[in-house]
Amino acid sequence: MGRAALFIDRDGTINRDCPYCRDPSQLYIYEDAVELIREYNKKGYLVVIVTNQSGIGRGYFSESELKAFNDALLNELRLRGARVDALYYCPHTPDDRCGCRKPNTALVERAVKELDIDLSRSVVAGDREDIDGELARRLGIPFIHLNRKVEP
Ligand SMILES: [Mg+2]
Repeated sequence: MGRAALFIDRDGTINRDCPYCRDPSQLYIYEDAVELIREYNKKGYLVVIVTNQSGIGRGYFSESELKAFNDALLNELRLRGARVDALYYCPHTPDDRCGCRKPNTALVERAVKELDIDLSRSVVAGDREDIDGELARRLGIPFIHLNRKVEP
């Protein structure tokens, strides 16, 4: 039997969203996301980032720029005691009609297969009800909403 996992979104959930984030100097990490990751590390879950990065498909940044940003993010999380076990991204644009752009489920399904995850004990966390919440519904697992919209 596989391990339980926390599937967590990147932009707007772990780091403050900037349009097509690519510059590591723009990195700002939310403390509640750090705490959530630490909590699931302690519970023995795998922590897997699943993120839509259509900036690749649109030609706004390269795979190596994406990797540099991700490395900076993962390193900063590590320094703050939060361990991420894997990161999966979708490089496509909506026009590509792929199966991996969230809320489609193929990214998660790939992680489940490659990392031997027990989906039935897993959860999704994210800032977007219509993307990450919808992903969780399609997978039939719970959703943790990190709501970044400040009430007026
Ligand atoms: Mg997001």
